[in-house]
Amino acid sequence: MNNSVLMAEMSWAEYQARIDAGAVCFLPVGSLEQHGYHLCLNVDTLLPTAVCEKIARAVNGVVVPCVQYGYKSQQRSGGGNYYPGTVSLDAGNLVGTIRDILREIIRHGARKIVLVSGHYENNMFMLEGIDLARRDAESRGVNDVRFMMLSYWDFLNDPGVIDTLYPDGLPGWDVEHAGLFETSLMLHLYPHLVDLSKAVQHPPAKFPAYDMFPPHKEWTPAPGTLSSPQGSTAEKGELILKTCVDGIVAVVKKEFGA
Ligand code: ZN
Ligand code: MN
Repeated sequence: MNNSVLMAEMSWAEYQARIDAGAVCFLPVGSLEQHGYHLCLNVDTLLPTAVCEKIARAVNGVVVPCVQYGYKSQQRSGGGNYYPGTVSLDAGNLVGTIRDILREIIRHGARKIVLVSGHYENNMFMLEGIDLARRDAESRGVNDVRFMMLSYWDFLNDPGVIDTLYPDGLPGWDVEHAGLFETSLMLHLYPHLVDLSKAVQHPPAKFPAYDMFPPHKEWTPAPGTLSSPQGSTAEKGELILKTCVDGIVAVVKKEFGA
């Protein structure tokens, strides 16, 4: 009766039936973080959720609601935590949130769980959440839970696709914050949340090999983007989404037999 793969849109009974059938559960973990003048604040939540929804459709999975807040934006990966609108969690709270969510879905019977990062700074804390959830489960005698953890952008690794997206050369994944990758995906999925007329063209940010606290704000390009969104198109976004989803579907099938 309900074709949604989003847990939040299911009744408890529909959800339970899918879990009992062995569905893979996907937990996107995002952030509320500035993404320049031309993108909204919840890019890191919208994009991994959309990726998870596509994957879940392909493997009959369930998408658990995204963790909407992430670990503190770091200057060399997200511009810096001091921008207005960026709302971040302390590490322990993020780890605890992930641990709690995992404990609950394991209690419901989930045994195949994929955590999908939408925000680079979350990654080590997601791993810690998995580790603690595993320890919790095993201490209760539940030993058959398997977890996968990934960042969806790591699946954009085909040199031919990268050449199509970046004919002038890749500025570097480390400066892809609010650049062509995220902007093209947003243009494809949520065009009404992008205002390219406000995008600022600038050379990719160049950071030294260390961080400073308090940060030297002048190291971050003023708009908060780390590379220019110039050249972003909805067509590129469609290609990025397809490439990432196809790659992740393949490894989910390989590991979970979904
Ligand atoms: Zn982002
Ligand atoms: Mn981010």
